[in-house]
Amino acid sequence: MSVAFLNLKDTYLELRPELDAAVKRTLESGWYVLGDEVAAFEDEFAAYCESKHCVGVANGLDALHLALVALGVGPGDEVIVPSNTYIATWLAVSQCGATPVPVEPDVDTFNIAPALIEAAISPKTKVIIAVHLYGQPADLGPIIELARRHGLKVLEDGAQAHGARYRGKRLGAHGDVVAWSFYPGKNLGAFGDGGAITTDDAELASRVRVLGNYGSRTKYANEVAGFNSRLDELQAAVLRVKLRHLDRFNASRRIIAEAYLKGLADTDLTLPIVSSWAEPVWHLFVVRGEGRDALQRNLASVGIETLIHYPIPPHLQGAYAGMGIQPGALPISEKIHDEALSLPISPTMTAADVSEVVSQVRKLRSTPA
Ligand SMILES: *Cc1c(COP(=O)(O)O)cnc(C)c1O
Repeated sequence: MSVAFLNLKDTYLELRPELDAAVKRTLESGWYVLGDEVAAFEDEFAAYCESKHCVGVANGLDALHLALVALGVGPGDEVIVPSNTYIATWLAVSQCGATPVPVEPDVDTFNIAPALIEAAISPKTKVIIAVHLYGQPADLGPIIELARRHGLKVLEDGAQAHGARYRGKRLGAHGDVVAWSFYPGKNLGAFGDGGAITTDDAELASRVRVLGNYGSRTKYANEVAGFNSRLDELQAAVLRVKLRHLDRFNASRRIIAEAYLKGLADTDLTLPIVSSWAEPVWHLFVVRGEGRDALQRNLASVGIETLIHYPIPPHLQGAYAGMGIQPGALPISEKIHDEALSLPISPTMTAADVSEVVSQVRKLRSTPA
């Protein structure tokens, strides 16, 4: 028996008639960029996220970058970022010519620790980025309150959290703007790259729309030096189909996560916790423990594929060597990177797959009673 980490082909096969019809309809329309499919997806995704506006862009990194530009971030500014995140969060800040200022996570939730943010605010700070890592919402309440008190904006990185709720309300417009990725492996994934922003701020949505379309509102009139970052019609048509099934696939992930939480409770691994105000969507199920690399090797030898999110934190990447942040400077983030292991969490996994993962992990890591 072997268990894949994530099986995207099975998801396609399950939705094949609807997806094939959507692709065919788009190809036959003769219109491939900025048309009816994108407009319809933007309306449907905004409604799903309980937000007023959605603007499609080319990918998640662009969604973060264009949101920052639209918020007025530029050279010389500082943006607070989680130290524990995928590097895209930091790169979006660097692309603006601004400086990412890392803040450590809460080791139990993996997300930025609100209590540590204030000390990182300087006169140059413009924006706080909260990442909803692994599908768990960050604690937005205190972050937004702090931002209001200091005149800062809040950008949420929702790339791993489509459908999650914070205090009962979907992610989509708690902060000033949310950036989304539709990379194939995300909870809502396209058949290629895609991204979007959602917000309740009409002015901000309009700025992102103009920035992503060559700085143009009217064809051949370029009011600002913009970019080419558009969601295409084919990806929008695919996403419209997948959005209709997102809650069901997220529910499958939750069932898998609950089986892991129950089945692995008496091992020596640290399991993810769910805060009382959080409804996560389990993009990843991340356990922590010493001897992570041996655990991964041993699981691989019995056919269970696991991944590490992420092996190297942004501040220790070559890309950020210039910032001169030394190993040991962000110890919580570094500990997570050394100990974290993501178990398989494909929405199409069978109950037998889940039992197999539980029993193999228990064999390796059960603690004597
Ligand atoms: C995937 C991801 C991104 C970037 O999305 P792309 O569509 O790959 O550009 C940004 N932030 C986080 C947390 C992600 O997981």
